[in-house]
Amino acid sequence: MTDANTTLDQWLRDAHAMEEQAEQMLSAQASRIENYPSLKARIEQHIEETRSQRDRLEACIEARGASSSGIKDLAGRAAAVMQGLGGMFAGDEVVKGAMAGYTFEHFEIASYRALSAAARAAGDERTARVCDEICREEEQMASWLADNLGPVAETYLQREAAGSDAAKR
Ligand code: MG
Ligand code: FE
Repeated sequence: MTDANTTLDQWLRDAHAMEEQAEQMLSAQASRIENYPSLKARIEQHIEETRSQRDRLEACIEARGASSSGIKDLAGRAAAVMQGLGGMFAGDEVVKGAMAGYTFEHFEIASYRALSAAARAAGDERTARVCDEICREEEQMASWLADNLGPVAETYLQREAAGSDAAKR
């Protein structure tokens, strides 16, 4: 039998690995973008948020006094989960990248909804509040992308039609 606290510790480690992966993917994406300054700036803002999210998760894990046994296993498990998602960012074209970002933010939102519920089920209100707070940041990023994907695609198409090399990045 596995209790709610053990599962919560596992899911917190998964989320921590997810944020480390997110930082890498967003940094690679931001460094590729040259001609879409508002998209680049919003991604750079979210890189800062992502680092802070990782730190807040770390503080939750430490405050819970999670045992270090089995951490290697859990890190490996999380890496496997993230492998498929990382592939989404592989393309170097700006619209595909923004679409991948939008998808990834929703994976994060889903993760923090489940984590928040798990924390409350385990009686850890402090961790639940941190997860709710992080969830709102992911929702804001997703919402920004939802508003800006259309304009980015339109700019891309105009530049492409003009034969500009600036279109793709
Ligand atoms: Mg995040
Ligand atoms: Fe995010």
